[in-house]
Amino acid sequence: MARYLKEGVDPGVVKAADEKVRSIVEATLSDIEARGNAAVRDLSVKFDNWDREDYRLSPQEIDACMNEMSAQDLHDIEFAQTQVRNFAQIQKAALQGVEVETMPGVILGHKNVPIQNAGCYVPGGKYPMLASAHMSVLTAKVAGVPRVITCAPPYQGRPASAIVAAQHMAGADEIYALGGIQAIGAMALGTETIDPIDILVGPGNAFVAEAKRQLYGRVGIDLFAGPTETLVIADETVDAELCATDLLGQAEHGPDSPAVLLTTSERLARDTMAEVERLLEILPTAGHARKAWETFGQVIVVEDHDEMLAVADDIASEHVQVMTDRDDWYLDKMVNYGALFLGPRTNVAYGDKAIGTNHTLPTKKAGRYTGGLWVGKFIKTHTYQKVVTDEASAMVGRYCSRLCMLEGFQGHAEQANVRVRRYGGQNVPY
Ligand code: NAD
Repeated sequence: MARYLKEGVDPGVVKAADEKVRSIVEATLSDIEARGNAAVRDLSVKFDNWDREDYRLSPQEIDACMNEMSAQDLHDIEFAQTQVRNFAQIQKAALQGVEVETMPGVILGHKNVPIQNAGCYVPGGKYPMLASAHMSVLTAKVAGVPRVITCAPPYQGRPASAIVAAQHMAGADEIYALGGIQAIGAMALGTETIDPIDILVGPGNAFVAEAKRQLYGRVGIDLFAGPTETLVIADETVDAELCATDLLGQAEHGPDSPAVLLTTSERLARDTMAEVERLLEILPTAGHARKAWETFGQVIVVEDHDEMLAVADDIASEHVQVMTDRDDWYLDKMVNYGALFLGPRTNVAYGDKAIGTNHTLPTKKAGRYTGGLWVGKFIKTHTYQKVVTDEASAMVGRYCSRLCMLEGFQGHAEQANVRVRRYGGQNVPY
């Protein structure tokens, strides 16, 4: 039976906060739809201290941002982008079209077609999260999307050079300095400045994630990728320093980022809680991390690995760091999560920033029905069919006609009957 040494906030509080965000987003999207750029500008001034009629960055502004970066910075971004590109290309190669003759004369297939316009959000309210540019813009380009546009909020009143450099290096076709709901709304609905896109992708805070959710249907979205969550699964084989560091490394994202320790060892649980307190005294970003830990942090002690697996699947966390004597057992058995980080030698920050897997991952239990962003999210799989012999057309037509009549679809049945008459020589009455 799982025991909570530290419980997180009451779910009712989270629900009330979600409802508040929902209504703010609804009103804001309506305003953007009604007033276009005038609304976008008002919101940018209000939230990002950014007042520009034309919020598309010019080539000169992009060059200026690139020039502000040191050679080492550019080299490091290049390293990360090389890893992301490489893995995305490998994943793309695994996405094959299909064409098979399923019965004599019947050919079925599917064709993979890139989405034509993608809008990639790069978050930057609290930190300039340039890594999200590799994850979305670059992945869209590897997928073959012809037009990839991207928005990031101005950081401290001006475009963040590091984000703009990463967006540019990733191959963005249009770069806009816009954040939050106004960025998501402008890309999806279109404004006087932006032609609307077909799919919205990328992570962000609760407002960004909710805006994407509300626009789904009107445009596609990659997934629900809101405030970061992390789950550390640990047994006696690992120490409190690694567990506490990995919890706070993600709690640092913001005060609404849950970090959970799940362990079979009560000793490790207590040591980790003490270590978290020690690290919070020295972590420069403890302002965000302490609030997140105090509000949403959880420490759960379970009896054995089977129970640990069941609780972990129920939590369905975005990031799951596994440090046990059986990491591959979790890889084999776990079904609900965004991404797994197996063993003490790797960690979520490697995935977030440098190693090559995508860091845009499902939150709020969305890992029950989707994985993270990848080239496949930018590619549509369209089926097609051909019937290449008269015999095949008449044979399928006879089945099809009877099946249509079972549903009362007489017009459908006639689509089959006309072919049975024409290609099968059989006089089926109209
Ligand atoms: P952000 O870019 O997502 O949001 C900043 C914008 O939020 C601002 O431009 C502003 O317009 C808007 N905003 C702020 N307060 C508002 C309010 N009260 N009403 C309306 N709009 C408001 O940057 P952020 O806030 O730093 O958040 C980034 C988020 O992205 C973090 O929560 C982080 O955990 C998350 N993230 C998630 C993933 C994932 O894959 N799930 C990956 C990386 C980051």
